[in-house]
Amino acid sequence: MPLSAKVLIVEDERQIRRFVRVALEEEGCRVIEAGTMAEGLALAGAERPDLIVLDLGLPDGNGVDLIRDVRGWADTPIVILSARAQESDKIDALDAGGDDYLTKPFSVGELRARVRALLRRQGRNAAEATPVIRFGDIEVDLSLRTVLRAGAPVHLTRTEYRLLSALLGHPGKVLTQRSLLRDIWGPTFIESSHYLRVYVGHLRHKLERDPAQPQHLLTETGVGYRFQP
Ligand code: CA
Repeated sequence: MPLSAKVLIVEDERQIRRFVRVALEEEGCRVIEAGTMAEGLALAGAERPDLIVLDLGLPDGNGVDLIRDVRGWADTPIVILSARAQESDKIDALDAGGDDYLTKPFSVGELRARVRALLRRQGRNAAEATPVIRFGDIEVDLSLRTVLRAGAPVHLTRTEYRLLSALLGHPGKVLTQRSLLRDIWGPTFIESSHYLRVYVGHLRHKLERDPAQPQHLLTETGVGYRFQP
């Protein structure tokens, strides 16, 4: 865990703020709190946190607007907290630039794991921009556009490769079906989620040890996909 990371929690429910604070302080984070969107935006600008935990249902607005605002000037990782009733808001929030989400109620363990993964990624991005990504027995060289499995070349079609590199470009981040379909197939295909299921299936067969129990190319049911290094 990158220690002494500064985390901003924007949440109007005091109990949840406290729960998040205690969980993250035990991990060595410094936690600052906001109870409204206005306060959250002000603190995000003034304190420049390393990560933001953001509730979508705030008394003075929708957290999605806070994400859009912050994305105008910073790439701070953002973990969304959403209630079951906010499924479509959650997808909008991910499309707007949110990195990951937790559905209430969530456990301390889940929260810490998400936060750790995003802070690790942030640390890595700052340290190096390596074109070679390794997971399991796979090695992908993004500059040479080559994929090796246990040292042997794997052939991917153009579409498979584009999908893989989109996922690998954002380790740990949930990419929505809509954003993947738009980026890879184009804006007229954003409803064609069966394309994604088929191509993710191809990638799993070529790259996962057990395609039926993927460890790296994960489905976020009803939302999208995530690359887990
Ligand atoms: Ca709320």
